[in-house]
Amino acid sequence: MRVTAIAGGTGAAKLLRGLAACLPPRDLTVVGNTGDDAEVWGLHVSPDLDTVTYALAGRLDPARGWGLADETFRCLEGMAELGSETWFNLGDRDLATHVHRTRALRAGATLSQVTAELARRRGVAARLLPMSDAPVRTRIRTPDGWLTFQEYFVREKALVEVLEVEYAGAAAARPAPGVAEALREADLVVVCPSNPVTSVGPVLAVPGVVEALGAARGPVVAVSPIVGGAAVSGPAAELMRARGLPVSPLGVARAYAPWLRRLVLDRRDAGAATELGRLGVTAVPADILMTDGAREVALARVVLSQATHGVSPPSRPPLQ
Ligand code: GDP
Repeated sequence: MRVTAIAGGTGAAKLLRGLAACLPPRDLTVVGNTGDDAEVWGLHVSPDLDTVTYALAGRLDPARGWGLADETFRCLEGMAELGSETWFNLGDRDLATHVHRTRALRAGATLSQVTAELARRRGVAARLLPMSDAPVRTRIRTPDGWLTFQEYFVREKALVEVLEVEYAGAAAARPAPGVAEALREADLVVVCPSNPVTSVGPVLAVPGVVEALGAARGPVVAVSPIVGGAAVSGPAAELMRARGLPVSPLGVARAYAPWLRRLVLDRRDAGAATELGRLGVTAVPADILMTDGAREVALARVVLSQATHGVSPPSRPPLQ
């Protein structure tokens, strides 16, 4: 069964580990968010692609949920001594990824090419595609002006008020090679439990992605990142509010209408089924908190079992 997953960072990493444990690795394609890519010390950093790569390589730091396990931060200390900005934490071994990527991009490689190479060299057999080879950058408007996503998320620790979110560059971007086909032709499309506004939103903003989801031959299934009225982690709730979305599975479904078929939600949110039904989305109650490897695999199994349900094409035409 060929599965294509749309992924952000930390939440996605857990489900992807579970999916990779249940599938032949070559049957898994991951479309990764690059809206929160950043330039740090002159290096091209792709936080979500790296989180997914490290997770699938079995090397993600389990406590932080980003970066490599057993990491040191000597270079960061050295940069602080030199008076450089050090609010974005880059580990010593992690730095090799960013140096390698930046050199390859400067030598003319596309982000798709270098992403595939980095995954292969880390021993990842699943196919990892950036959403686009063109730069798309999530920007957050606060009462004091526009911030890059990393300024908002890491430097300001997501504590500032969000007035608006935009995906700069999206209108001119195209899906990276293979992205539209992977979404259209998969037996199952999975939207990982990721921030709907700043992890999945940038992927959907790339022209052609929503059309591919609307034309997907397999069912499109999302896992809610919202449980009991709050995000499991991170600023998804604030960002959804800023977008006028309720902080609930219904809000997640609204962000993904009209192409979403099924939403895997926490059992305590099962009461949302009727309202979801009005959006054409079937609620699938499950245990969706992935607190250990066994729960990652158990949730992956629930998600994969959805491929056998609702395989008919969408009955409604895409609205956007
Ligand atoms: P950010 O941390 O909000 O920038 O976003 P990411 O897209 O990297 O991933 C975090 C998202 O995953 C958050 O919206 C969390 O609520 C969600 N998440 C994290 N862990 C879990 C989990 O175990 N289960 C579920 N269902 N969602 C999770």
